[in-house]
Amino acid sequence: MDFSFSAAQEQVRETVIRFAQKEIAPRVREIEEAEKFPVDLFPKFAEVGLMGIRYPETDGGAGMDKVTDCIVREEMSRVCQSISAAWSAATHIGIWPIWRGGTADQKARWFAPALEGKMIAAFALSEPDGGSDTRALKTKAVKVDGGWRLSGSKLYITNAPFANMLLVAARTKPEMTSDAISLFMVDVPNPGVEITKLDKEGIKASETGLVHIADAFVPDMALLGGREGSYHLVMEALAENRIGVSANCLGMARNAYEVALDYARTRLVRGKPIIEYQAVAHRLADMATDVETMRWMVYHGAWRVDQGTCDMALASKIKLHCSETAVRVSENAIRVLGGAGLMREYPVGRIHRDALVYLMGEGTSEIQRNIIARTMKS
Ligand SMILES: Cc1cc2nc3c(=O)[nH]c(=O)nc-3n(C[C@H](O)[C@H](O)[C@H](O)COP(=O)(O)OP(=O)(O)OC[C@H]3O[C@@H](n4cnc5c(N)ncnc54)[C@H](O)[C@@H]3O)c2cc1C
Repeated sequence: MDFSFSAAQEQVRETVIRFAQKEIAPRVREIEEAEKFPVDLFPKFAEVGLMGIRYPETDGGAGMDKVTDCIVREEMSRVCQSISAAWSAATHIGIWPIWRGGTADQKARWFAPALEGKMIAAFALSEPDGGSDTRALKTKAVKVDGGWRLSGSKLYITNAPFANMLLVAARTKPEMTSDAISLFMVDVPNPGVEITKLDKEGIKASETGLVHIADAFVPDMALLGGREGSYHLVMEALAENRIGVSANCLGMARNAYEVALDYARTRLVRGKPIIEYQAVAHRLADMATDVETMRWMVYHGAWRVDQGTCDMALASKIKLHCSETAVRVSENAIRVLGGAGLMREYPVGRIHRDALVYLMGEGTSEIQRNIIARTMKS
């Protein structure tokens, strides 16, 4: 067993660290307070190859593996999870199904420009009547001359307020079978689509939208793969992305731990650094151990993706552990900092708020437990 990163992977890590320090770190405070995503970052991501990191060179990507993708996420989330969340929606869940199941024309129209940072994607699956029960989604697509008419609502959609394309999951048949759910590339603006930006706590600079779709027309070409039934691609994309968001959680937890450690070494109480109080040192020891478990799980999961052996349950175990642990580590960081932990001068309050999002995003902890438990029945 070889647990080391390759020279190429370490080089990507260095590139992301440099990019994040130059292009992201100086803007974090401003964009978080304005609750506005800096869309000018997308072409900059493309310039350094970060839009297509996970896709083969033959399809315009950088040809890297899932381990490298997780390195990018860990380092980006360590600096700003809002940026990482928007990047993930635009480069992974929003276009991965097009790469896997799109026709050559569809890839040229919606996938290639995304890798160039010229088209920003959003993935529209969740609905107001319940995001957890994805199979029961109500958005309908009805066949008409030359295309389809879509109607329904999508809730909590990352990037929707500024996206150029929504990858919309819609029911093309009334039956509750997996071939009843299809995916459509919906260009926006579209006269039948109205997008409202939502006010939220956590990853504030990542813009989240409510999407109302009222009899919106899309041409035949917008049906992914030119055929009905793409639920398997949704599930596949979610499983792979659950490893990805676990790497985001690792990045957030590392940042919280590093800030707390630094603070504990320098904050004097009763004449000595607080790290010399055993209660504080033990808390930091627990945080360091938590971060270590996350690192092992994330990169093991990424390696399994690269080997083609990562199943849904493994992805759920890793996502469950990493999201819950990032919340615990960031809360512990706030405790180590005391009152300073809640001040904006330090990032730990923001990290905790951001980490809470991943108890929900890509499926809640309860849904992860359901997926894991399902494999135990036989
Ligand atoms: C910031 C943010 C960004 C998001 N981005 C996107 C996006 O880009 N695209 C997208 O499609 N979605 C997105 N989501 C939606 C996210 O995937 C859903 O919030 C999530 O799947 C949960 O759905 P829900 O919020 O409707 O909760 P509900 O499904 O209403 O669940 C409410 C509660 O009931 C529990 N529950 C529900 N069903 C079960 C069950 N069977 N067993 C046990 N407990 C259960 C849940 O665990 C939860 O505690 C985003 C969410 C957030 C917060």
